[in-house]
Amino acid sequence: MARYLGPVCKLCRREGTKLYLKGERCYTDKCSVTRRPYPPGQHGQGRIKLSEYGLRLREKQKMRRIYGLLEMQFAGYYKQASSLKGRTGEEMLGLIERRLDNIVHRMGFAASRAQGRQLVRHNHVLVNGKRINIPSYRVMPNDKVSIREKSNKVAFIQAALAGAESRPQPTWLEVDKEKLTGTFKGMPVRDELNEPMVREQYVVEYYSR
Ligand code: SF4
Repeated sequence: MARYLGPVCKLCRREGTKLYLKGERCYTDKCSVTRRPYPPGQHGQGRIKLSEYGLRLREKQKMRRIYGLLEMQFAGYYKQASSLKGRTGEEMLGLIERRLDNIVHRMGFAASRAQGRQLVRHNHVLVNGKRINIPSYRVMPNDKVSIREKSNKVAFIQAALAGAESRPQPTWLEVDKEKLTGTFKGMPVRDELNEPMVREQYVVEYYSR
């Protein structure tokens, strides 16, 4: 599946908030949202008044960009979520959170979801002892995600782990940082998702308009 290859800081500036797409740099004062807190482009510093539709569009774009997905795949998650029993927005978030690239990032083995994706694509990640190189692979409750023994020394995994020390560890994941393994305990409830900046209800309203 394709992915966005352009400059990512522009995406944060467009959404007017940090989307944490670059790993450690996002936590420093080199962050572009801190340095230039206005949208990119020639008219970035002009006045912007969003319509009701615009508000929902921006929310959809923000959530899509946080998880590094292109439109087709993201809309696919909405479609799947709307056929599930629960609240569509929360189901959608749940489905996306269970992607292997996201879980690898949440466990602290990658500084960003993009790095998590790279780890998966480059065969560094095992699920229940089996090599999986599909970033969208859906992790199931009690699945064990680990870094391949040969890859334990990869410098950016160690750097990501060190960076993750200072951030809260998700309660729905159990991680052994020494052995570079973790278990997905089960679906998190919305409050545990630690993603307060996403208003998933707006995303649902965008697609169901
Ligand atoms: Fe976004 Fe990170 Fe770039 Fe800041 S440094 S603008 S949070 S990607």
